[in-house]
Amino acid sequence: MMSELEEIVRTTCPRDCYDTCGVAVHKRNGAIESVRGDPRHFVSRGQLCTKCSIGYNNEWLDPRSRLTQPLRRVGRKGEGRFEPVSWNVALAAIADRLKQIVASAGPQAIFNTHYSGTISLNAYLFPMRFFNRLGATEVSPDTICNMAGHVALHYVYGTSVSGFDPRTGDDAACIIVWGANPTASGPHVQEHWLAKLPGKVVVVDPVRTATAAAADIHLQPFPGSDAALAFSMLHVIRRDGLVDRDFVAQHTVGWDELEPMLAPCTPAWGETATGVPARLIEDTARVYGRGPSLLWMGQALQRQPTGGNVMRACSLLPAVTGNLGKPGAGFVYLNFDMTQRGIDGEYLTAPHLSKSAPPSISQMDLAACLEDPARAQALMCWNINIAASNPQQERLRRALTREDLMTVVLDLFPTDTTDFADFVLPAASFLEFDDLVASYFHLTLSAQVKAAEPMGEALPNSEIFRRLARAMDFAEPELHESDSEIIATLLKRANFDGDFRAFAARAPVHVPAEPAIQFRDLIFPTPSGRIEIASESAAADGHPRLPQPLADPRPASGRLRLLSPSSSWSLNDSFSNVAKILAHVGPATIAMHPADAAGRGLAEGDQVLVANETGRLVMRVTLTETVPRGVALSHKGRWPKQEPGQRNVNVLNPGRKADMGESTAVHGVEVTVGPLASA
Ligand code: SF4
Repeated sequence: MMSELEEIVRTTCPRDCYDTCGVAVHKRNGAIESVRGDPRHFVSRGQLCTKCSIGYNNEWLDPRSRLTQPLRRVGRKGEGRFEPVSWNVALAAIADRLKQIVASAGPQAIFNTHYSGTISLNAYLFPMRFFNRLGATEVSPDTICNMAGHVALHYVYGTSVSGFDPRTGDDAACIIVWGANPTASGPHVQEHWLAKLPGKVVVVDPVRTATAAAADIHLQPFPGSDAALAFSMLHVIRRDGLVDRDFVAQHTVGWDELEPMLAPCTPAWGETATGVPARLIEDTARVYGRGPSLLWMGQALQRQPTGGNVMRACSLLPAVTGNLGKPGAGFVYLNFDMTQRGIDGEYLTAPHLSKSAPPSISQMDLAACLEDPARAQALMCWNINIAASNPQQERLRRALTREDLMTVVLDLFPTDTTDFADFVLPAASFLEFDDLVASYFHLTLSAQVKAAEPMGEALPNSEIFRRLARAMDFAEPELHESDSEIIATLLKRANFDGDFRAFAARAPVHVPAEPAIQFRDLIFPTPSGRIEIASESAAADGHPRLPQPLADPRPASGRLRLLSPSSSWSLNDSFSNVAKILAHVGPATIAMHPADAAGRGLAEGDQVLVANETGRLVMRVTLTETVPRGVALSHKGRWPKQEPGQRNVNVLNPGRKADMGESTAVHGVEVTVGPLASA
């Protein structure tokens, strides 16, 4: 039984994760005692993932690990030497410099880079009000991850953020999980949803992940050959009479152009192009085509040189088989359509504060921009750790050493990026402020409930930008609206009765309450109102009218294609500062097939030099048949400053763009791997 001094605060994990777990914060005498999974929550069922369970109960609660005061640089850039200053001093100095830059070079010389560190709605979106008012250059966040997929799905369906409702999973006879590894990126979705579905589970992944190993069928295409695999499946679907011709006639455009392209894409051709046995292509095409079927397109699919084409090709499967508009059918990329949940995204970001559309660049171009004083004079960095997560790591670090580039970094922890800052502003953790969380998988809206005061002088992202707006003398009321006012307005506009406390007592809330059928009315927000197998919009943007049956060329002799996904122990670059996790995962490794290792004279545990034109990295080799021949795998997310060579796997990423959306092609990186001694 709880003593009177014990209390449980129920809140929500706002990480960039499919799960969106319920969290139970146990407090004693007003202080947080432990952070656990909420046993009453339909996702977490009493358990957080291991990384959060460790991180949230250690570094997140430890003032020695957290940033607790505003800091001003006293050392050289990159040294990470600072002195504490007051909020007023820090914000006045930042505002003065920003004003000077606006007056002399224009606001576009200020770069705003951010992503998904904390994706509760206010923490994630409210700062954009400030940047819209300022007119800063936006470093397009999704270009570091999934922009190619968004662009591609817009061409075909007119939306990329309105997917199937997982609650309809029980109606599906088949689900294809293509390029996702929920064992690592959504462990509760894996355990409590995917593993429990009655239908056949097919996983398409070059790597035999735990998700793939648990599936009924695992297809292992060579990376970058997914479009060819989709075309080969479509060949079988057409050949075996599984095309839903009524659906195609009524709801698509371009089938007549696509159909002749399928003839040469036989299963034998598919096997040659992808490495997947023809028999498995046939089996998968038939089980999917008979339906009803779901298609989950994960966040690895689009990170390839032809990632946009891959996404267009894979997304044809539901269109051609009529797997839309009925229970157990549909596709998902991200369920991040805020309006579907009654959330007014434009209210949160206030784009009307922009005098003109702010300029935007790709994350792939950030290093080049920052090294140019005529282009960039200040960098504002929040919810992201670019020195760990961006491509062209060496070049970016050099650019960040520019003495005349005023760099301001918000974070919970002293990262590689904060080391390059002129001012470091301590951000509050999700345990320390109220907010709302919209899952990007489940159709839920959840409450993030403050369980403790912010540590030291830390502040929520929103409050930091309110104060900075004041220091800039920005008078627009939108910039000064309080969190509680914003949350109340959001809930009111979403038609929830009662205040935030009342909502939190009910949350998580499914919106809509009953399972939704994706595209129930079979009207698609494309120019034609139909699914655009052939897309004039794509053609106008310089792409082929139709997806193409492409497979990337295999790596040149001696090279391996490098995949750098998340492991179960980190999330993007979060948790890589957690001591217990670091001790568990040990030094950086590169996994490769034993035959590839033998050909290079390598054995398990050898130190190897991994290199290409962009960078070099020393790692320890591990041998595994879960990785196919010709592929190497090294997990992302490690912090360079904790590595012996002060670099992580992104030092090998040249920042090549995918075919659409100026998006990353990180899974197209190629490397040589050889004995360290011969390097
Ligand atoms: S990161 Fe994901 S799995 Fe881990 S606690 Fe948060 S929502 Fe749950």
